[in-house]
Amino acid sequence: MKPNIAYILLGTNLSDREGLLNEAKSKIEKDGNGIIKQSSIYESAPWGFESDQLFLNQVITVETILNAFQLLEKLLAIENTMGRIRIDGSYTSRTIDLDILYFNNEVINSESLTIPHPRLHLRKFTMLPMAEIAPNLIHPTLLLNQTEILDLIQDKNEVKTFYPQGRHII
Ligand code: ADP
Ligand code: MG
Repeated sequence: MKPNIAYILLGTNLSDREGLLNEAKSKIEKDGNGIIKQSSIYESAPWGFESDQLFLNQVITVETILNAFQLLEKLLAIENTMGRIRIDGSYTSRTIDLDILYFNNEVINSESLTIPHPRLHLRKFTMLPMAEIAPNLIHPTLLLNQTEILDLIQDKNEVKTFYPQGRHII
């Protein structure tokens, strides 16, 4: 059976950011999914709120036999297990965000899952890595490829390449 292809955006702005990206990717693989491509890692200021901590973002291409809802469930479980770090005995906010950007060329609009991700076309930190690893992929409802979407973006936030090649340490 042909596996499904998902594009997942990883984001983090807390503590050991590269370590958290690598831990999330290891967990995604331990769930039986194959990471077949990784974008560079990009660094940007938080979108929509003020924080001193810059974000790292990366997009990975994943082969999976799970359907989109099963994959979301696994990603939410990873967010939950990684999502709480103890500082002085109390918990702080989530450390990693895992969003499904695309799943095959499916269009899903349910309460728990929207695919393609509804805000991907507005965000440079999403579209830069997408255009890097899948420039010709067509957005199933906008009917534009990733490079074309990136070119239309108004997002003025600076996004820099943090590390040119996705490092993956297991
Ligand atoms: P954001 O990623 O926009 O900052 P959250 O990660 O807090 O927001 O949102 C989590 C919720 O978003 C999840 O519980 C999930 O049900 C829902 N959701 C809807 N569509 C998606 C998607 N494509 N990828 C990941 N989560 C999604
Ligand atoms: Mg999310």
